Amino acid sequence: TDRTLVLVKPDGVARGLVGEVISRLEAKGLRLVAAELRTLTREVAETHYGEHRERPFFGSLVEFITGGPLLALVVEGPRAVEAFRAMAGATDPVKAAPGTIRGDFALEVQNNIVHGSDSDESAAREIGLFFPDLS
Ligand code: ATP
Repeated sequence: TDRTLVLVKPDGVARGLVGEVISRLEAKGLRLVAAELRTLTREVAETHYGEHRERPFFGSLVEFITGGPLLALVVEGPRAVEAFRAMAGATDPVKAAPGTIRGDFALEVQNNIVHGSDSDESAAREIGLFFPDLS
């Protein structure tokens, strides 16, 4: 089965939305494979968001994602990457449909509660970065 990396970002943890996100994952039928609450180092954050290194919001994004504990999850299920992206909704929470996590709980593009890998290749890379011991 397919796996994806899900992050409940520091804004989601601070707002008490960890249970809400896990409930939705479980209700959908995605299976938890790994879970860890941790505060990212700058190095891991810059690697994770490396594709955005040249963007004007990169510095702010790294500050945000390292600014408090986040919950890193690996979840498994058929087409897990696509399934979770649909549950998360559009990157800009104002454009995210009601019923999606971002559509229901966020208003600002940076503070958009969750991350989900955007392809199977990204998922493999990100799972390797966050959970190097996972087979
Ligand atoms: P994620 O990778 O976190 O799942 P995404 O794939 O929907 O999000 P990307 O375009 O890869 O979106 O952007 C990564 C993250 O960078 C976004 O989730 C958001 O937190 C932040 N971000 C994206 N665009 C902006 C922006 N214009 N201003 C500030 N932050 C942004």
